[in-house]
Amino acid sequence: MSNGWRLMAVHAHPDDESSKGAASTAKYANDGVDVMVVSCTGGERGDILNPKLKDNADIARDLSEVRRREMAKAAQILGIKHTWLGFVDSGLPEGDPLPPLPEGCFALEPIGVTTEALVRVIRDFKPHVITTYDENGGYPHPDHIMTHVVTMAAFRAAGDPDAFPHAGEAWQPQKVYYSGFSPNRMLKLHQAMLDRGMESPFGDWIKRMEGRPERAIHTHVECGDFFEARDDALRAHATQVDPDGFFFAIPMDLQREVAPTEDYELAVSLVPVELPESDLFAGLIDSGDIDAICQASVPRDEEGNPVAAYTAPVPPPASVEPVDEESTDDDLRHREGHSDGEHDESEEQVAS
Ligand SMILES: [Zn+2]
Repeated sequence: MSNGWRLMAVHAHPDDESSKGAASTAKYANDGVDVMVVSCTGGERGDILNPKLKDNADIARDLSEVRRREMAKAAQILGIKHTWLGFVDSGLPEGDPLPPLPEGCFALEPIGVTTEALVRVIRDFKPHVITTYDENGGYPHPDHIMTHVVTMAAFRAAGDPDAFPHAGEAWQPQKVYYSGFSPNRMLKLHQAMLDRGMESPFGDWIKRMEGRPERAIHTHVECGDFFEARDDALRAHATQVDPDGFFFAIPMDLQREVAPTEDYELAVSLVPVELPESDLFAGLIDSGDIDAICQASVPRDEEGNPVAAYTAPVPPPASVEPVDEESTDDDLRHREGHSDGEHDESEEQVAS
């Protein structure tokens, strides 16, 4: 039964919701929070990354439809609502020089068009809290970076009655979080596997992470009871994962013992917060009539941003390292799919 709280998770492709923040969204849904996952694109330019399904002609004939069915199954497993924003996958450009992005794709749509589409969904669903990716997109896929840009623009605009006046009544969500990669969680899993005499798949990633700017990750949501749901949801995206990939082999008891949380970075909060925190709704619970607060107009700065009680420090830009094919582990890539080809997406792979 609904407890009156609403959470919206904005993702780039179907399957991202199952690899980033899946267990915590399942936990919130189980607690009675209304959770809405928004997929900005249909994942149309994804490859089939499950070796067992690679030569399946039925799947290859209509991958988009297959992915819609996979997404519906994952949503059911996680207990969340789902909507498509309706834009087309940009794919991950590969080659040197990089080819131009395909015409009509999400990343090339005018920002006003994509923002209005998300504002409409926000004003309709009325989330109190939104999650998205950080300014690097978690990793540099054009759709992930655009998901960040559009979500932040929609967060600013949704509560402004003068912005997109035909897209519904103003509604100001109170917080935005970045979900995704948690180096700390990976390090803990890595160490615990070594301590148990197991081979850790994380060694190369740890090397590659050295020297990267640290992010201010202060929000740790306990959700170990939902790791099975997370894995089942990811497996539901059968074309996008290798079910025999290493990720599914990390013992559940080890995960629950050393890394029972999913971690978020608080990007913006309009209400005062105390960090670290363990709940995406912290600071909102005691703030009074939350729906009335989200409907009220908020003070804005000169750039039109709602005046925030907390804004995350912006880390120096992360250097994007060249693809190192030698150290790219197929299993890791298969952990999360969609057209990423040979790109090093290790950061995504451990995001959940
Ligand atoms: Zn993605």
